[in-house]
Order: sequence, then structure tokens, then C-alpha cells
Amino acid sequence: MSESPVERSQDTVARGQCLCGAVRFEVHGPLRPVIYCHCTMCRRSGGHFDAATACAPAHLRLLSSGTLRWYQSSASARRGFCGTCGSQLFWEPAHGDHISIWAGTLDRPTGLKAAVHIFVADKGDYYDITDGLPQWPGDSPPEA
Ligand SMILES: [Zn+2]
Repeated sequence: MSESPVERSQDTVARGQCLCGAVRFEVHGPLRPVIYCHCTMCRRSGGHFDAATACAPAHLRLLSSGTLRWYQSSASARRGFCGTCGSQLFWEPAHGDHISIWAGTLDRPTGLKAAVHIFVADKGDYYDITDGLPQWPGDSPPEA
């Protein structure tokens, strides 16, 4: 997996919000290419596999967050969602290196590209992955 962020100037601002608009945010800084996650937790919480970009925590500015709720989905991460409309927005690992942002919450154009499918060993059985991107069984490349 490439962790290199897409090239964005530092004054570029990405904006996003939940469905009802009660949670609104901006990212002032580079965004990671989109990763599709097929793990069971993402599929259950989102209804399908997830598409997430990410930024440095310091680059995320919450403009409106009164309805933002957090669910501790495992010992290693929590998930942020809007308590009013239910939109999933963020995935925050305990190690704090980055915060993932659900790509669908961003305003277009995002300038982002998808890079890889992860946790495909846990994918749903009702769809095929046919976009030609790399597919990793877990969160790292398979052993060569
Ligand atoms: Zn909302």
C-alpha cells in the first residue's frame, strides 16, 4: 500500500458534511488516496464496503459537530457518525497517525483516486471486484 498522499497544495481546502448537514468539516492539507475496505466491521456499519481517504488529525477542522457521535468499534479504533442522520464520517485509530474520512462525505470535485482494496478476505459474497486495483487479503500486501 502506498501511504504517499496525493499532491495537493497546502492552501487547498476539502469540504464535507453528513447527510443532514449538522456535521460539517474542512481539511486543510493533503488527502490520502482512497482505500476500499471490505472488512466485516466496515460492511456492517456502512451497509457495504467503505471508501475512505485520510488526513493528518491536525488538518481536520470541525465546523459544526454538535451531533457528532463516536462508537468505539474495537480496541484500536472508533467511528464517528452523525447522531441525527446516521451518516458515517470518520474512522479514528487509537494510534493517532491519521484520521480516515469517508470519501462520499466530501464535496466534489475531490481530486482523489482509489488505490487499493483491503480486507478482501472478508468481503461480502454478493459482489465481485472488477476495477483492476490491487486486492489485499488484509491490511497489507500479500506475501510475494
Ligand atoms: Zn447529520
